[in-house]
Amino acid sequence: MRSEVSDPPADLTPSQAVNWFFFQAAKRLEIKEELQNLLTNPWRELAVEVPVRLDSGDLKVFKGYRVQHSGARGPYKGGLRYHPQAALDEVRALAALMTWKTAVVDVPFGGAKGGVQCNPAELSVDELNRLTRRYTLQISPLIGPTRDIPAPDMGTNSQTMAWMMDAYSQRYGYSPAVVTGKPIELGGSYGREAATGRGVVNCLGEWASLTSTPLEGKTLAVQGFGQVGSWAARLVGNLGCTVIAVSDVKGGILSRHGLNVNELLKYHSQSHTVVGFPGAEQITNDELLQLDCDILLPAAIEAVINPNNADRVKASLIVEAANHPVTPLADRVLQESGKTVIPDILANAGGVIVSYFEWAQNTQQFRWEEERVNKELSRVMSRTTQAAYQTAIKEDVSLREAAYLIGVSRVVQATELRGSF
Ligand code: NAD
Repeated sequence: MRSEVSDPPADLTPSQAVNWFFFQAAKRLEIKEELQNLLTNPWRELAVEVPVRLDSGDLKVFKGYRVQHSGARGPYKGGLRYHPQAALDEVRALAALMTWKTAVVDVPFGGAKGGVQCNPAELSVDELNRLTRRYTLQISPLIGPTRDIPAPDMGTNSQTMAWMMDAYSQRYGYSPAVVTGKPIELGGSYGREAATGRGVVNCLGEWASLTSTPLEGKTLAVQGFGQVGSWAARLVGNLGCTVIAVSDVKGGILSRHGLNVNELLKYHSQSHTVVGFPGAEQITNDELLQLDCDILLPAAIEAVINPNNADRVKASLIVEAANHPVTPLADRVLQESGKTVIPDILANAGGVIVSYFEWAQNTQQFRWEEERVNKELSRVMSRTTQAAYQTAIKEDVSLREAAYLIGVSRVVQATELRGSF
């Protein structure tokens, strides 16, 4: 399964890492160099100051970004991240991933991402409200229901989207379709909150059935117990898997006999961490990534599996619930040791799929039942997993390369058909 390209350098920036995967596909697809240049650089980048009056009375200025990578296939689409390390290059990488992700699952959007460099855990609800409104107004010339549609990502949630929608609507008139991932009461879609985790589980189930891999009794470790990780942990039992370890930013927990995920959810809602869950052993995030288990599900931050620890990963299957948790060089190490990686642009696409359903419901002013949302999500995840798997077999490449081949060729076709250049 090894591709012909040389080993990737170990010190790539986040956007260079995503472009590395793009170049592998571009080479195989024989894409013209001028188009490669176009598609490895964002179409538009906006950096803004976000001044916020803190509860203390002090004025603090945060850095904010919105990067629009490609709009060839439709309005720009991508989450908004609140994180101390939400730097421009990271946001650029995440925007490019959105372009390939929306294309691989074939929803009619382009790719974008936003970020504000802040630690949401250190801000009060009122401060977060003011920060979100200021950021929304700063980027408002670029966004809109048919221009660019933000959604939640790390550190943001449905409440953040409610504030964004309200701030935008005050200036431009009532516009629920300007963001997705809203609360149900404000035009959000049933099933959106669970969608990314549910999609991860749909994808894992489909992969298992395509490869005739029994999942009953398989052990699983989940890094990150936020919106994505907690829903994946909650639903993966439906496939017969046992969650033996989970972690968050404060540390991890392990129970070899399996964690009671429903009890853990109750504990987490009160203590805001998984650490200290009664009856479980304490472990570090590093130990979790190297745990003796069947399936590893990174669902937190980027580059957690890197050249320093890739050869110590014991799980034979890594499902990328987070965005780019595996660096290109680590990906090569995992491949060479015979492990399977289900890539981010396929595995975690459930969020953007249901965001598309939410946007469609908002523009049609017609609400779907949750059953319909989940059924359609499962259908798209299965169809996409099958397509990636068949391409991987046909082209003798990894699932990541296969997903990129599908995504990149769709974006190239759309760019050429538009005939703008
Ligand atoms: P979240 O903020 O709800 O949760 C993040 C979790 O990761 C938390 O449990 C946090 O404690 C943990 N975490 C943060 N830093 C960590 C660290 N250094 N080590 C270990 N754990 C750490 O975020 P989320 O929405 O669940 O997103 C998680 C990942 O999934 C991100 O990579 C995001 O880009 C990706 N993703 C999210 C969505 C979505 O719909 N929310 C969709 C696609 C991809």
